[in-house]
Amino acid sequence: DKFVSILGVNFIHTTMKDMVARLRKRLLNEEKTFVVTANPEIVMKTLEDPTYKQYVDLADYVTADGIGVVKGAQILGKPLPERVAGYDLMRNLLAILNEEKLKLYMLGAQEETIEKAVETVKREYPNLQLVGYHHGFFNWEDPSIINEIKEKKPDLVLVALGVPRQEKWIAEHLEEVEKGVFIGVGGSFDVLAG
Ligand code: UDP
Repeated sequence: DKFVSILGVNFIHTTMKDMVARLRKRLLNEEKTFVVTANPEIVMKTLEDPTYKQYVDLADYVTADGIGVVKGAQILGKPLPERVAGYDLMRNLLAILNEEKLKLYMLGAQEETIEKAVETVKREYPNLQLVGYHHGFFNWEDPSIINEIKEKKPDLVLVALGVPRQEKWIAEHLEEVEKGVFIGVGGSFDVLAG
C-alpha cells in the first residue's frame, strides 16, 4: 500500500474500488481494522487537537473523504486518485456483508434515527446478520455497548457519533476486541433513515 502525508495525516493512495477490495479481504480474514474517512473537518481537527490526532494515527487506513481533500492534495503536489467518502464506502461494505452473510453492529445517531436506519439496512441488505445496534447518546463510561460487541463479534462496526467522538470511541475500544472492521461514518445513519 502507498501512503501520502497531507498536513500530517497519512492518507492511503487508493481508489474506492481498491479500498473496497482491500476491506473485503480484511473482513474475510477477520483482520481487525480501523478506518477513518477524513474530510477537511477531520484534517482541521487533527491540527487543532493533538489527542484527536493520536486517535487518527491509530487508523490502519485514512481515506480522502471529499473533493476538498483531493483538491488540497493536488495543490500540495501529492495527488490522490479520487475521493473515498464515508457514506459510499459504508454502502459498499454493507453490500459485501450482504453477499457474504457477515455480521453487522451499528452504533450512533438519535434513537428514532437508528431505528429507521436499521429498517433500511434490513430491507436493502436482507442477507447480512444485524447482531446489534445502539443509539449514540449513551454514558461514555458504561461498558455495555463494547461488551455486547465483544460477545457478538460483528465483522463490521459502523460508528456514527460524529467528529471527534466516533474516532475517540473506536480508538479507546479497539484493543478490547478480537476482530472487526471499525469505521466512523458521521451523519450516514441520518441519510439511511431518510
Ligand atoms: N451523534 C451521536 N452522539 C453524540 C453526538 C452526535 O450519536 O453524542 C450523532 C448524531 O445524531 C448524528 C451523527 O452523530 O447522527 C453525526 O453528528 P454531527 O452531524 O453532529 O457530526 P458530523 O457530521 O460533524 O460528524
